[in-house]
Amino acid sequence: MTSQALSRIAAAILIVASGFCVSRIAYAQNTASASRSFVIRNARVFDGQQIVNATEVWVENGAIKAVGSDVKAASDVTTINATGDTLLPGFIDSHTHAYGDGLKEALIFGVTTELDMFTDPHYAARVKKAQAEGQDLNLADLRSAGYLATVPGGHGTEYGMPVPTITSPSEAQAWVDARIAEGSDYIKIIDDDAHAYGGHRPTLTKETMKAIIDAAHRRGKLAVVHIGDQPGAKDAINAGADGLAHLFADSEPTVDFAALAEKHHVFIIPTLTVLESVSGIPSGEPLTADARFEPYLTVEDIGNLRRSFTTLSTHPSEIYAEHTVRELLATHVPVLAGTDSPNPGTSHGASLHRELELLVRSGMTPQGALAAATSVPAKTFHLDDRGRVAVGERADLLLVKGNPTLDITATRDIVAVWKAGVQDDRDSYRAEVAKQKAEAANLKTAAAPTGSESGLISNFESGKPDANFGAGWSVSTDSIAGGKSTGTMNVVTGGANGSQHALDVSGNIDSGLPFAWAGVMFSPGPQPFARANLSSKKSLTFWAKGDGKTYRTMMFTESGGRIPSQQRFTPGPEWKQFSFPLSAFNGTDGHDIQAILFVGGPEPGSFDFEIDDVQLQ
Ligand SMILES: [Zn+2]
Repeated sequence: MTSQALSRIAAAILIVASGFCVSRIAYAQNTASASRSFVIRNARVFDGQQIVNATEVWVENGAIKAVGSDVKAASDVTTINATGDTLLPGFIDSHTHAYGDGLKEALIFGVTTELDMFTDPHYAARVKKAQAEGQDLNLADLRSAGYLATVPGGHGTEYGMPVPTITSPSEAQAWVDARIAEGSDYIKIIDDDAHAYGGHRPTLTKETMKAIIDAAHRRGKLAVVHIGDQPGAKDAINAGADGLAHLFADSEPTVDFAALAEKHHVFIIPTLTVLESVSGIPSGEPLTADARFEPYLTVEDIGNLRRSFTTLSTHPSEIYAEHTVRELLATHVPVLAGTDSPNPGTSHGASLHRELELLVRSGMTPQGALAAATSVPAKTFHLDDRGRVAVGERADLLLVKGNPTLDITATRDIVAVWKAGVQDDRDSYRAEVAKQKAEAANLKTAAAPTGSESGLISNFESGKPDANFGAGWSVSTDSIAGGKSTGTMNVVTGGANGSQHALDVSGNIDSGLPFAWAGVMFSPGPQPFARANLSSKKSLTFWAKGDGKTYRTMMFTESGGRIPSQQRFTPGPEWKQFSFPLSAFNGTDGHDIQAILFVGGPEPGSFDFEIDDVQLQ
């Protein structure tokens, strides 16, 4: 989505500082001993399209062997009594970004396949190789676009990962062929100038977009286009896109939109969940309060689900997208459930259930919404072995209490999840999450860092960039995310309030990254990025003077999700005091602060400011 420069700053800093990519939830499922054969009896069976006249499903060796009402399974096969429960195909989330623990989390919530729409192709290749060898059965199955097609500086380049960009139609076939060689299952294209969110960003020309779509079709690959507004959606459809990733939230659909989509045989992945979040509504917040989900959500998941896109200058309205879905229902346009996890307001797996709820709110029947997460994406993306409960299919299955064709939120009452006939070990996962939460709760009563009592972090009077507590000050720049911005810190003479010294922070912001930054970082814990309990403090206060440009102070907290929260300040030629309540940083109570930054950027150019008497009060 439009996300969040900041998320990538977070990821980049965290990768360097604390091993972000290391799984936080350590359970490893032992699948070797699983029999992958069982028979489910007395179930209500949703076959991917409807409730069918069958109550029994026999799985043998990870595949569905029989579906009926009097299945004669072998006598030694385990029987699961599912009275009152509904058996469904495992869900397919048609828009995610897979990395970290995402695929593991997805499976916990019944999403057995993720269609990734942009990730590191090396990561995707590793996962797919393991899948092909029958490993990693505790992860959702992955299909991936790999890199996306975008221009230099366009959407998709802001995450710090170098992306092979494209600027002209003549490059299209070579670009597409390179993706296919890397293993892309389909081609993802960006057509979004960020206009709908009050921004400006370069994007592909219509000619180049069409050339990439044509190049994908020449190789038999689907071309899925990320759109940002209604004119862009129409351009993509007219250029021959197979599908739209996202619906538009900038305007009501014009009277001809649904007919245009139908005439061109496109499918649409509305991603209402992330559009809600783009609209400023924390889409995932209700999920964090749901007792059926909360025990399986990590501290970071909960932090992220409670966020929305707070940094956008314009918030479009997700309701427009719901109205468009409603109009599409009168056509034959396939609508697919997708979430765009893990963008702010979402998390893998859990958010798919929110998407189903929003699709129903848009006018879909619960049955139709369930099909949008099972048989419809399977057919659309040619996943011939899944998405249905039928003989010969992979046993990717979800068993839930109650009847989700009557109440769509019944999908949240998960009894069991199977991938290729192996039951996911949700109990062990739940226990690990409980342990993580207990540790996080302990942190609230942990001792404050020694030396933090007065609240003064630094007055720089020693003539060095010392701090009274924590791991001290360091220079932080976007070079860790592939940027070219530079920064230095120097203690200089002449501090605030007539004191001897202050910290000068200066450097140059390079235009290479849209989320460029450079400046200084203070780590309050014993090591860089270790959490520190500073909940006895209520505000961050500092003096600053500078060149009149606007700067940012950013704070990382563990419970704030994966994104730093920031406040702007504009220091002038005279020393001035700035003060921000801690709660201004994404509502933190200060119990798990990992880092506080003072930085220039993202606007390019030189920067120079001084800070002094930095304190938490
Ligand atoms: Zn996305």
